[in-house]
Amino acid sequence: MTELDTQPTIVVIEDEAAIRRFLRATLAANGYTVLEAANGQEGLAQVALHRPSVVLLDMNLPDMDGLAVIERLRAWTATPIVVLSAREREEDKIAALDAGADDYVTKPIGTGELLARLRVGLRHKIRTADQREPTVVTVGDLHIDLERRQVLVGEREVHLTPNEYTLLTTLARYAGRVVTHRQLLTSLLGPNPVSEASYLRVYMGNLRQKIEVEPARPRYILTEPGVGYRLRDE
Ligand code: CA
Repeated sequence: MTELDTQPTIVVIEDEAAIRRFLRATLAANGYTVLEAANGQEGLAQVALHRPSVVLLDMNLPDMDGLAVIERLRAWTATPIVVLSAREREEDKIAALDAGADDYVTKPIGTGELLARLRVGLRHKIRTADQREPTVVTVGDLHIDLERRQVLVGEREVHLTPNEYTLLTTLARYAGRVVTHRQLLTSLLGPNPVSEASYLRVYMGNLRQKIEVEPARPRYILTEPGVGYRLRDE
């Protein structure tokens, strides 16, 4: 039996009661079993006790830093962690992703965005559990065949440089999830890359010219301002 057959359980770690109420109502209406914690310690205990499918974590908690919660969880579990973060706090989002969070949702929370992030988290968890790496990633008319190293837009084969191909396949492996500038630079240059996001923007611009119908209004590779990029997956 896979987790898709049962109602996924989610632990919500958030100190603001009004946001918890909103999340409980939204998530329960969409088929999640919701467990709540009003602080970090309680959240850690809930996760250890119930082994949820996903953790939704507010970064600003009364008793401990959200980053410390992520680190404590990552010491023993790979359960997807989606962070709730204030707008304009890119450095917090990056720190959370570096500490092992899988993704983030920006407050005020949009229901569609929240559910999309959770779906991606669940899919990724199932894929990881099955040890199945996808060999073909399809988004709309974009087909990336990782085994044959072939990229198609509709019927048209697209020829990418090695760097462009590396960037696209890195995004494809995490389809639907944000990939930080640093993670992308590491995929190109190895650990501890010295180059900056501007270097990445050039490659990303070229890649978009080749795969997007309207490069200025990308449909496939979305920009996460200040943080990184995301390959759309639905
Ligand atoms: Ca809070």
